[in-house]
Amino acid sequence: MWPQQFDYQRADSVESALAAIGDNGKFIAGGHSLLPAMKLRLSTPDQLVDISRIDALRGITNGNGNLSIGGAATHAEIAASAAVGAACPALAQACGMVGDQAVRNFGTLGGNIAHADPASDPPTALVACGATIHIQGVDGSRSVSAQDFFVDLFETDLQDGELITSISLPDCSDCQCAYVKLPHPASRYAIVGVAVCLKMDGDTCAQADVAVGGATVKAVKCAGAAAALVGSSLDDAALSAAAAALSDDIGDWLTGDVAYPEAYRSAMAGVFLKRAISAASG
Ligand SMILES: Cc1cc2nc3c(=O)[nH]c(=O)nc-3n(C[C@H](O)[C@H](O)[C@H](O)COP(=O)(O)OP(=O)(O)OC[C@H]3O[C@@H](n4cnc5c(N)ncnc54)[C@H](O)[C@@H]3O)c2cc1C
Repeated sequence: MWPQQFDYQRADSVESALAAIGDNGKFIAGGHSLLPAMKLRLSTPDQLVDISRIDALRGITNGNGNLSIGGAATHAEIAASAAVGAACPALAQACGMVGDQAVRNFGTLGGNIAHADPASDPPTALVACGATIHIQGVDGSRSVSAQDFFVDLFETDLQDGELITSISLPDCSDCQCAYVKLPHPASRYAIVGVAVCLKMDGDTCAQADVAVGGATVKAVKCAGAAAALVGSSLDDAALSAAAAALSDDIGDWLTGDVAYPEAYRSAMAGVFLKRAISAASG
C-alpha cells in the first residue's frame, strides 16, 4: 500500500520545524508508527517535517535531581543510557523491551508517546515515575504531567503543530522501580505492562506509585493499588490486596480482543503487579 503524496523536508532546529509544519503537516522522527499509518491512509499529511537530526532534541542529561531526555532520543539510546539506568531503571527497562533492535534504533520516545498506542511500553513507566512532558508550539512552550498527557485510546493532550521537546523525570535513584510486561508473542507489544516505583523506609513501603498499560486504552495511574502497598512490608497479604485494588483502578479503562479479552488482561495485571514489585525490590 502506498501513502498519499506528500512533501518532505528535514529541519535543523526546533524553530525551523515549527515554522515548516503547516496546517496538515506531521513531524516524523523514526517513522515506525507514522509510515504504517500513512500506508493504511489512517494518516494523510501533505507535509512531513523530519526532526530526527535536530541536536537539541537528542540529548539525555541528569542534574539537580532531574533526568531530562530529548524528544527524539531513541529507545536504544535510552535503554543503554547509564544516566537513565541509574535515575529511572523502569524507563530503561521499558525502552529496552520495545519491539526489536531495529525498532529501538529508529523509534523515539517522543514519537512513541505522541502516537499513544495503548500497547506501548514507555508510557506506563513514565506515568508511574511521575514524568513531565515538555511541549513547544509556535506560540510558546508548556509542560504537562504524563498522567494528564495520555487522554484516551491514541489520544493525547498534544495539539496540532506542537512538538515534544523533552521528557523529564525526578531522579528516583533512592527509589526502587521496575517495569515488567506480558509481551504479545508475535508483535512483542504489551498485552499487559506494569510499572512500579517504591520508596522504602527500612522494611516498610513509605511511598508507592503504580501504573498499568497494555491492558488499558492508555497508561493508567493506579492509586488504589499504591495505597494498599504503603505502610506494608510488601508481604503476601499486601500484594494480594494491591492486586485486588488494581482491578478496580483499571476497570473503566480496560481493553481486550478475541485472543486476550478484558477479563484475562485484568487478571494478568494483578500477576504482573506482583512481578513488578518483586523485580523492583530485588
Ligand atoms: C515491528 C514493531 C514493533 C513494535 N513493538 C513495540 C513494543 O513492543 N512496545 C512499544 O512500546 N512500541 C512498539 N512499537 C512502536 C514503536 O515504539 C513506535 O513505532 C516508535 O517509538 C514511534 O517513534 P518514531 O520516532 O518512529 O515515531 P514516528 O513514527 O516518526 O511518529 C509517530 C507519531 O508521533 C509524532 N511525533 C514524532 N515525534 C514527535 C515529537 N517529538 N513531538 C510531537 N510529535 C511527534 C508523529 O508526527 C507521528 O504522529 C513497535 C513498532 C514496530 C514497527
